[in-house]
Amino acid sequence: MDFDKKRDQLVERLETHRNLGDRTLDAIREVPRHEFVPASKRSAAYNDAPLPIGEGQTISAPHMVAIMAELLELKAGDEVLEIGTGCGYHAAVTAELVGPEHVYSVEYHSSLAERARETLQRTGYGEVSVRTGDGREGWSECAPYDRSYLTCAADTFPESLREQVRTGGIILGPLRDGGQRLVKGVVQSDGTLERETHGRVRFVPLK
Ligand code: SAH
Repeated sequence: MDFDKKRDQLVERLETHRNLGDRTLDAIREVPRHEFVPASKRSAAYNDAPLPIGEGQTISAPHMVAIMAELLELKAGDEVLEIGTGCGYHAAVTAELVGPEHVYSVEYHSSLAERARETLQRTGYGEVSVRTGDGREGWSECAPYDRSYLTCAADTFPESLREQVRTGGIILGPLRDGGQRLVKGVVQSDGTLERETHGRVRFVPLK
């Protein structure tokens, strides 16, 4: 199977149907998504759809990863904290945009964290830092961050996460409000968030 060709076709579809910037499209074009999904799901790696990755968890659809990258306004050198490493695909796309040494990711399941670390190493993103833990606590040792995002749905942004993002920084994630909506918050100097609510989304729950 020609994965490179399939990936180019996916990027073409994203370019036509979604309002995405060139840097984001280039990042999706660079990351070999088929290396991150389980071997049995490889043939579906370039469908624009979520896929199971084990432990009852799923890798987000490429368009969702791209939309989140746009909303986070990622620039080279931004320090970024991700909650929910999963298979590591989203972290790799973020690494394309900010540089792998600037990406920190926390995963609840040690089995997923271990596998993600191996895959990131094998695909050239070995400088992404992954640790096992409860993402609600963030990763204080490496704070402050310019950006933080959740890949699992919470009721509100966890307090420690918000505290670890600098003033003027952005926090993004799916928050429950009956359904789920993607919410973007810009951290103000008094620690509060200026919020924007985006579309309806569907993510696995934060544990
Ligand atoms: N970004 C991932 C998507 C993973 S799905 C990817 O590209 O594959 C969401 C992930 O969040 C799951 O792996 C799940 O185990 C993890 N998760 C759920 N609750 C968590 C918590 N409290 N702390 C850290 N990770 C959590």
